[in-house]
Amino acid sequence: YAPLAEIDPEVQNIIDKETWRQFSGLELIASENLTSRATMEANGSILTNKYSEGLPNARYYGGNEYVDELEVLCQKRALQAFHLDAAQWGVNVQPYSGSTANFAALTALIQPQDRLMGLGLPDGGHLTHGYYTAKKKMTASSIYFQSLPYGLDPETQLIDYKGLRQLAKIYKPRLIICGASAYPRDWDYKTLREIADEHGAYLMADIAHTSGLVAAGELADPFQYCDVVTTTTHKTLRGPRAGLIFFRKSGDKAQDLEKRVNDAVFPACQGGPHNNTIAGIATALLQACQPTWKAYAKQVIANAATLGQELVARGYKLQTSGTDNHLVLWDLRPLGLTGSKLEKLCDLVGITINKNAVSGDASAQVPGGIRLGTAALTSRDMREEDMKVVADFLHRAVETALVLQKEAGSKLLKDFVRVATTPEEGKVGAQQVHELKKE
Ligand code: PLP
Repeated sequence: YAPLAEIDPEVQNIIDKETWRQFSGLELIASENLTSRATMEANGSILTNKYSEGLPNARYYGGNEYVDELEVLCQKRALQAFHLDAAQWGVNVQPYSGSTANFAALTALIQPQDRLMGLGLPDGGHLTHGYYTAKKKMTASSIYFQSLPYGLDPETQLIDYKGLRQLAKIYKPRLIICGASAYPRDWDYKTLREIADEHGAYLMADIAHTSGLVAAGELADPFQYCDVVTTTTHKTLRGPRAGLIFFRKSGDKAQDLEKRVNDAVFPACQGGPHNNTIAGIATALLQACQPTWKAYAKQVIANAATLGQELVARGYKLQTSGTDNHLVLWDLRPLGLTGSKLEKLCDLVGITINKNAVSGDASAQVPGGIRLGTAALTSRDMREEDMKVVADFLHRAVETALVLQKEAGSKLLKDFVRVATTPEEGKVGAQQVHELKKE
């Protein structure tokens, strides 16, 4: 029972450095958040010791009386957090992550090599929604299933529902997936349902990014129209890293869905559930069931809106000119700056962001934009006035990058970025660039 710092000071030291990084810097990665201490305690608990293949009261191991209690509690809270009636909806809380939740959902809904359609990765979709390139089928969702992406309207940069309808007429998918990793606007689930019904297809929403906002009732409700809804638990939901699969229990498309989803998670795709993670999910869901959750979700959205407006006010361009949710997509192409350069430069000054493709990017390998999310900063109680300061910092980072690029040449900026992979190296790198510029 000796503490970590005593047993393994090396790992403790790394954790300490990461703690410092997370709290001294500005965390703007749209897929991340800062969980509560309570959630982390549950997630780091003794429950990690227990094996419990199967479902509550139907396990392949003994000693699961408390784990059964925990999993049932987690399921109950999951339904409660999303305002779902247990007679209409069920949930599997065992997926290890969003990717495994999605693959299990595909396994449950369709047969190998059946056709599915998802939002294309360059337009904001996720890898697990059928992504492949001209050279390679690199995700399980395209290796084991046939897939065709739908995209954005190039004018409005909104989902091209008309184009999707036309493509679906030809492709006749068995499954349409909606939801995204980098789409700043809400979804029209009613239209998607109509398109799916035209082909007798299932409709699945992957609300990994927005689930905390959906739970708060701040975004459109996918449960009204979809057959299956998947989510991660660690983004706007503020839980530990894991996934959930909700499935309809009634209606003509719901036949056998409960058994198919449960069997797809275990034994098809996973082994024993991670009970410590399920405890963390349960605690996070309890928080999402509180009246205060709505205020948090509202603030996440207000912060993203303000950050977007402040960037626009400083002359920058955003995809769709704004946002409905927790993220903005910042198009750097008019500045002649790549997303990766700004990402690396921001790393040097404690601002964590990620490069991202923006609609119409010539190459997904060299994305022309940045994705910014406000869930983590809102968890630190930041508000609209703080977003103005964040926008100022980002503006200064861009100006620095542009000066380096213009005055010193793009090679020098590349060098600057290359040598500067940690804050310490960054200082050395900056000094080197300074010397070079003097020369
Ligand atoms: N689905 C969406 C929309 C995502 O954005 C992500 C991850 O960012 C995932 C699924 C995969 O989640 P995980 O990384 O937990 O496997």
